Amino acid sequence: MNLPEILNQTAQGILILGAGASAYVLSLCSLSALSQFFSRKIRNQEELNFAIREESKKLGLTKKVIGKFYNEFRDSAGKINHHFYRIDVGGSLASKSSVRHELYHIYRGHCEPEFQIKNKILDSLNYYLKEEPQVIAYELFRIKL
Ligand SMILES: [Zn+2]
Repeated sequence: MNLPEILNQTAQGILILGAGASAYVLSLCSLSALSQFFSRKIRNQEELNFAIREESKKLGLTKKVIGKFYNEFRDSAGKINHHFYRIDVGGSLASKSSVRHELYHIYRGHCEPEFQIKNKILDSLNYYLKEEPQVIAYELFRIKL
């Protein structure tokens, strides 16, 4: 095999890998969005507070979580300090499913600074190949991976 053939095959491999990775990420996002679409909607701060209490109890989450409801799209979780965590939820996909999703990120320790990877590529791989599949399995089927 000569150099042009090797380069050609490498380029094809990268293309196939890129297409596969794109399909994988799209599938993950679609599963989560479908679950959120069919789940009970959250329309205000009071409903968010209720959903956090209800879903925390079902999950067995003992960490203290403060929710913030937004009218525009939000979907994230984080650590405020040693005692408190936060979830931000909002927009048309705000639902019990999205609360369940964000609470599981907290439950599994994904928001802990010591578990965050400094390298951006490794952090992205960790997020898409490990953290999001775990969270979506819980979001959809309540399976704790
Ligand atoms: Zn997530």
